[in-house]
Amino acid sequence: MKRAAFLLAVSLAVVSCATMMGQQSQALVSRAVEAVGGADKLAAVKTLSVKGTVRQWEPEQSMVAGGEMRFACDSTFEAVVDVGSRAARIDWVRKFAYPAPRTFTFSEIVTPEAGYVAGIDSNGRTKQSLDAKPPAHAMSGLRLAASQRELLRNSSLLTLEMLKSPDRLSSAGDVTVGGVSYPAVDYRGAAQTFTVMFDRTTGLPARIRTLDYDSVWGDVTYDLVLSDWKAMDGLQVATTRKYELNGRMVQEVKITEGKVNAPIAAARLTIPDAFKAGASKPPTGPVPYQWVIRRQFIGTYLDSDVPSYDTRATPGLRFAELAPGVQHVVGGSHHGLIVEMRDHLIVFDAPVSDWHSNWVLGAARAKFPGKSVKYLVLTHHHMDHVGGVRAYVAQGATLVVGKGNGEYFRKVLAAPSTRNPDLAVRDLSRTEIIEVADKRVFTDGQREVHAYVIENPHAAGLLIGYIPAARLGFSTDIWSPGAPLPDKINPNLAALVAGVKKAGISPVKFAGGHGSVADYAPLAALAAK
Ligand SMILES: [Zn+2]
Repeated sequence: MKRAAFLLAVSLAVVSCATMMGQQSQALVSRAVEAVGGADKLAAVKTLSVKGTVRQWEPEQSMVAGGEMRFACDSTFEAVVDVGSRAARIDWVRKFAYPAPRTFTFSEIVTPEAGYVAGIDSNGRTKQSLDAKPPAHAMSGLRLAASQRELLRNSSLLTLEMLKSPDRLSSAGDVTVGGVSYPAVDYRGAAQTFTVMFDRTTGLPARIRTLDYDSVWGDVTYDLVLSDWKAMDGLQVATTRKYELNGRMVQEVKITEGKVNAPIAAARLTIPDAFKAGASKPPTGPVPYQWVIRRQFIGTYLDSDVPSYDTRATPGLRFAELAPGVQHVVGGSHHGLIVEMRDHLIVFDAPVSDWHSNWVLGAARAKFPGKSVKYLVLTHHHMDHVGGVRAYVAQGATLVVGKGNGEYFRKVLAAPSTRNPDLAVRDLSRTEIIEVADKRVFTDGQREVHAYVIENPHAAGLLIGYIPAARLGFSTDIWSPGAPLPDKINPNLAALVAGVKKAGISPVKFAGGHGSVADYAPLAALAAK
């Protein structure tokens, strides 16, 4: 009896504690709704129209690994949202500084069922975009999901939606960020949970966090930090919105104008039938949000349901044999190279994701039975060429990087990566890492594979590969073989030619981390002009 009474008391205490936490969460949300404008005013919102600017930076395309972020893009935008149909349109003018200066002017339409892009928004265009006249394409389900998530995170109506969905709310306790403690709630949206942290003084939402997976840094926080609240058409609007990736600001949005219930012509929110039919739905599986969002920062996002390749253009990744035992991994936006040695394999680059690497590892097992990858050579640290590093080192590969990159990758491999959708959790912190100071020769007694550090303007400590027996070089980003050569040599190409000369090698052909394969002689001739 005593024991039963005790258990009853404990369970009542647990229930009342949970109820209290629930009430606290509800109270935080109610207060926020009031602070933003009140439930009645928010419920009367039929449309929202917003103008603003965005600046973006990319930390993993830096010159030096772990160094200063690349400034990526300066944009202006006009966004409209129809609350009833949950459809949004964003008209963009995006001025990119990286990887090359250019301006893309385009529009996005995002509805619950489909997404659409009118105009050119990327250098990595899909077949559908290239075929359409004028250029347009349906968004991949991955991009649709990422766009929907960020529209909801930024919505003036988020707190009202939370108020109306108490079953999706739970207490997140107090969360401390940058020495400030915020009372917080978790809100389980359709696809992902937001941790909404509130300002203790004003009651307004201060930070809205998601727990994302980043192919370089593993488990990361992605926070929208709201500040500079101003009244716009009767609602309080955060006019400064900074996105922080693991505490580093990567995006700054300024809202310059906000209107409530301005009419929106229906046509502006309508996806043309030709693109709506067959458009991807938001996926049910994991979304690589950071890849989808940040490849757009630099205007290189390939808007496909498989991040590695355009599902409308190719059946998938494949090997292309360049010489006996030398396979170029092609079929996608990013390539690698496999070299067969007597009793093992050497792989150059681990692009995109561990999904991509898992494909390569599977195909390599079938092609070269009994030979595992002993060395993974990364030409440079940029996220799109290293995102699949974990799959290789998890299989026991030694990591080979250029001068100055060892410590960076030691940190990367020690970072927690429990949210990796493509790889089981394991400790990679003791991975052997070889840092190439100048030149490294791998040999099995018969075949040699070389790696050379070359001076270049793209990434510090960049390596090129060379297989003497095939007189084949491998370069990523500084030369993408196969594309027409420019009329005049540029700094990246000049760096490659100087590097080849300094190494004292005599390649006949080069294969690329992008592009295909091409003769080296025309490039050398261009540099000599
Ligand atoms: Zn690069």
